[in-house]
Amino acid sequence: MKIRVGHLYPDYLNIYADRGNIAVLGRRAALRGHQLEVRDIGIGDPLDPAAHDLLYVGGGQDREQTLIAPDLAARSDALRAAQARGVAMLAVCGGYQLLGRGYRGRDGSFMPGAGLFAHETVAGDTRMIGDVLLECELEPGVKKPLAGFENHAGRTLLDAGAEPLGHVIHGFGNDGSSGFEGCRLGNAVGTYLHGPLLPRNPWLADWLLGRALAHAGAGEPPTLTPLDDALAAEALRVSADRARRRGGKR
Ligand code: GLN
Repeated sequence: MKIRVGHLYPDYLNIYADRGNIAVLGRRAALRGHQLEVRDIGIGDPLDPAAHDLLYVGGGQDREQTLIAPDLAARSDALRAAQARGVAMLAVCGGYQLLGRGYRGRDGSFMPGAGLFAHETVAGDTRMIGDVLLECELEPGVKKPLAGFENHAGRTLLDAGAEPLGHVIHGFGNDGSSGFEGCRLGNAVGTYLHGPLLPRNPWLADWLLGRALAHAGAGEPPTLTPLDDALAAEALRVSADRARRRGGKR
């Protein structure tokens, strides 16, 4: 099948080579006989909620966020409609922050977001940097580890009842104290974990691909042929060990 990916603001939001996540999705789709068709969506480009099976937003610093925030906020209805029809979404760091209601900077200014996720972000005066280990349960009863790297000044506070992507085992997560990391709304996930997130967490790549294939016409997320993930498992182990060495610091 063809999986149509919309990549929002690739010229602005691509910190730590976040776009590598798309390469992983493409490769894992191809190994199962599917084809990823990636279309860039820049400022002012149309966003038809039905035209994509997966939407991706990368991370960026406050400066880049300021440049795309008004455009992203104006897409609120389209993004909500896409999410409601089951389009898979992955948003990383700066993109994750701006899919919430908005971001309050150190100077008190407020950058409105798209309001898809039920959260708000406030910049703190220290950065939260390092490897993170989470436990996720996207399917009831199926717990999975997720490891990656975080680097953010923003503290993201989930509204009561909003579902996190995972629970922090080691690292800071959304705000350094709630024990939550990221946000999940149906088939949409947002996270602070940067750069090579999917290469070392292939189960999340397949979870997203399954949901994208369901939207592309498969009906239900299909069972994907297992791949040889020995190298990815080793990368996860290294990252999880680094997170553990932080000593459970939040
Ligand atoms: N505004 C973000 C912050 O909290 C940017 C983070 C990022 O994408 N690296 O620092």
